[in-house]
Parts: sequence; structure tokens; C-alpha cells
Amino acid sequence: EWKAPNPVRLHASLRPGALACVDLSTGRRWTYAELDDAVGKAASVLSSDVHAVARGERIAAVARNSADFIILQQAAMRLGAIFVPINWRLSTMEQEQILLDCKPSLIFTDADASQISVKGARALAMADFIAAVAQAKPKTAWPTISADAPAVLLYTSGTSGHPKGVMLSARNMFATAVNFGVLGEVSQESVFLCDTPMFHVIGLVTSIQAPFLQGATVLISGGFDPVATNDRLADAAFAVTHYFCVPQMADALRKAENFHPERWASLKALFTGGAPNPPANIRWWLDRNILMVDGYGMSEAGTLLGMPLDRAIIAEKAGSVGLPPPDMSLRIVAENGVDAEAGEVGEVLVCGPNVSAGYWACPDENARAFTEDGWLRTGDLARADADGYVTVVDRRKDLFISGGENVYPAEVEAALREHPSVSEAAVVGIPDERWGEVGRAYVVLHGGATAQAVDLAAHCSALIARFKVPKEFVLIDALPRNGAGKILKRELRQLALGKNQ
Ligand code: AMP
Ligand code: MG
Ligand code: MG
Repeated sequence: EWKAPNPVRLHASLRPGALACVDLSTGRRWTYAELDDAVGKAASVLSSDVHAVARGERIAAVARNSADFIILQQAAMRLGAIFVPINWRLSTMEQEQILLDCKPSLIFTDADASQISVKGARALAMADFIAAVAQAKPKTAWPTISADAPAVLLYTSGTSGHPKGVMLSARNMFATAVNFGVLGEVSQESVFLCDTPMFHVIGLVTSIQAPFLQGATVLISGGFDPVATNDRLADAAFAVTHYFCVPQMADALRKAENFHPERWASLKALFTGGAPNPPANIRWWLDRNILMVDGYGMSEAGTLLGMPLDRAIIAEKAGSVGLPPPDMSLRIVAENGVDAEAGEVGEVLVCGPNVSAGYWACPDENARAFTEDGWLRTGDLARADADGYVTVVDRRKDLFISGGENVYPAEVEAALREHPSVSEAAVVGIPDERWGEVGRAYVVLHGGATAQAVDLAAHCSALIARFKVPKEFVLIDALPRNGAGKILKRELRQLALGKNQ
């Protein structure tokens, strides 16, 4: 049995004085030696008679990003307990749904999240826990933890319905740290700024475990704030090299009044992932001398593809999510079940040490999502070009068929976004007597802008084939999104169907 890797422990020996993390909300800093000590003390408190946390037990946290959050996660991992970070923006009912699914013994909360209660679990304020940790003696004898046992449950954002807990083991997270480390050129000298939520894979795994693997530094903020992030990226004292966000956050950064990308002198790249990033957007950043490096990943498997940090390649291949990292295998499988040719669209399948063993207590979902020989069916459609660069086309279940032709809503949305009045757009397929299905577009206009359905239809017709042009355009104030900023297509489809009845 392979023992769980423990990079923080390792760096406490190799480079004890190297700066491991800074909590930007409080200004507190930890070297690797200090972080290792804090994790040891936290594990000691968790396993003490008071809490008696045992291997395999779930510990939930409904709390904002902080260094303490990470200390708790690392402590849970050393004890073989399963850490469950929960989106604090969810409604109490949604949170309870998750808690009932994973049945934790302890729930850590911020002071203002005291309403949470679920049978069999005790709620504990993060601040009280940390006060106890400060008094504790570090644990020195550690249980042997299997690298393959679940270490984290990441509840997927639920764009598809009921939330499911993705089980990630220490090995899974280590593999993603290795994979992103290679693609993202992470080293001892790297400084990460993390302000994506830690209940999401980009926050908890890519932005934290990847720098810890290398003995690099992580700056942890309480959450994304476009003005504060702009300041931090421009601050020579921080000298941030790596910043990872979803495309929407990058948009917010460039709209902030203190946006001066020419001052982001230390930044190697602005990494994006999690949702489509239009090529025009990537070029806009390149024109301002920022390498916007798009990558493709998911809760179930971490970082799966990434663009190289190379200006010429990014300019040439803008719109692609890049190449696979070293430690995993990726296939694009066409409709007929064989590997797709260059240029041909198929479903992305992956397998390797980065891939989750499955969803917590979901045998049916697991049977659907994984092949018998261990490949994850991602549900995403993509194509690779002759050089192997992959472009994500759309989610398989968002595809609709109009008059026998496949329509990928992402492509229609990209066309709509090129209209000067359009801020954002989402397209869903709705039943149609004549064509089988047709598109309905939900469009958000820029403040003060006006547009009519005829304009939008004419605009689309100039860019994309006729069968792809939505038959209806609905102007709305905002698109429904989940906590990770992803558009909730399911809600739009329900809205569209309701309208049809
Ligand atoms: P999540 O597990 O919530 O992180 O969602 C993962 C999903 O986000 C993937 O299955 C894709 O559908 C989508 N996704 C992730 N990265 C990208 C990207 N760079 N471009 C387009 N879609 C993406
Ligand atoms: Mg994502
Ligand atoms: Mg998914």
C-alpha cells in the first residue's frame, strides 16, 4: 500500500524557513516549519478526546477562505479523516442536503454561519478551534494513511441536478499538483495568489496543493475582490507569479478602476479554467502583455489540459485549452466508440492517478460516469487539432439537434458575445415541431445598451450557419449561476420549457 504523500512535512525538513503561506486578511505568515507545526497541533486537537476524529470520518467546513481553513484540511488529511468544504453561499437547505449525504461528525463554521445544524453533527466555530490549536502540543505519532483513501469530498456545483460528492484521495491531489506543476511551470520560487473559493477544485487543489508540492508560497485572501486583487498583482512586495481564476473573474479584474496590467511585473501567467474563455478575450490580454493561459479541468480529475506559457503558441492557438500534462491519459472518443481523428468532435475520457475513484455513495452515477476499465467519461465534447491541441466544444448534454444538425450552444454563445451590446448570453435547445429542437438565447445586455431580436438574429446569421441561429431571443437582467460562476443551463432549460407550456 502506498502511503499518502505529505509535501508540507517534507518541506518542513528540506527548507524549514521558506515561506509557506500568508493569510492576507490577518497578515499572519507561516514558514514550512511553522505550517507543519500548526497542522500537527490541529491534528492533535481533532484527535483528542474532545473531538476524537477517526480515520474515514467526515469533517465539514462551511467557511470563507483562510489559512486556518487549509491548516484544518491538512490536519484532517494527516489523520485520514475526510475533509468536506461546502460552499458558504448555498442556502441552508442546500447545505443540509450535502450534510445529509456525507454525514459529518463535525461542522466547522465562520462565526456568522451558526444556523447550520444536522443530526449527529456538532457545529464548531473556526475561531474556537484555532484558539484551541494555539494551546495544543503537536501530534508526533501519525497513523498510516493510504494514498488511495478518500481525503476530500468536493461537492460538484450541481449544474446537472442533485449535488454529488467527488472523492479525491491524497494521490489524486498529488497527481494534480504534479500535472499543474509541469504545465504551469511551478517552482520553489513561485508565489501563488489564491482567492478562488476553497470549496472548488481550483481553490483547494490547484492553487494550494500545487505550490505546497514544490515548497512555494501561497497568499490566501478571504475571497475575490477585483480591486484588492488588482492591487496585489501590482504589489512588488508580494511578487505574485501565479494567479488562477475563472474567466468571469478575469473580466471583473479588467473592469476595476485600478486595473494596470503593465504593473503586474512578476506575474508569469493569468491562468483560467472552469468555463469557456473566448479567443478574442485571450488576445485582448495578450495585447496587454499578459499571458492568459487557459486550461481545462474538473472536480473529478483536477487539471487535465493546459496551454504552454508561450506567447506565440497562445496567439496562434487561442481558444484551445492546450495539451495534456505528463501523469494521466486522455482520449477523445467519437460517437461510434473509436478514437476521434484530428478535427473530429468526441467525448473526453481520462484515466490516471489524478482521477477520482467516484462519487460518495452514488453507485448508479459511478456506473454511468466510469467505464469498466477505469476511464472517467467527462461528459464534455472536444476536438484535437493535428498538433494535439484540444478545444472544448461543449458539454455533451447541452448539445441539441436542429433539423438533424448538431448545435453546440457554446459556439452560438461565443457569436452572440461578439455583438457590441451583448454582455453575456446562454443558449439552450427547446423542442420544436418542425426542426426537432431549436435554440433559445437568453441575453444580458451591457448597461444602457439596447438590442432587438432582429438585430441579434442578423448578427448571428453573419457569423454562424443558419440552423445554429437561435429562433428566439429573451433579454434578461442576469444569467443564473452557481457558486463557481458557472451558468445554470438546467434552470434556463426549465424556464424555457415552462414558457412553452
Ligand atoms: P467543475 O467540476 O465544477 O470544475 O466543472 C468542470 C467542467 O467545467 C468541465 O467538465 C467542463 O464542462 C467545464 N470546463 C472546465 N474548464 C473549461 C475550459 N477551459 N473551457 C471550457 N469548459 C471548461
Ligand atoms: Mg470548473
Ligand atoms: Mg462536471
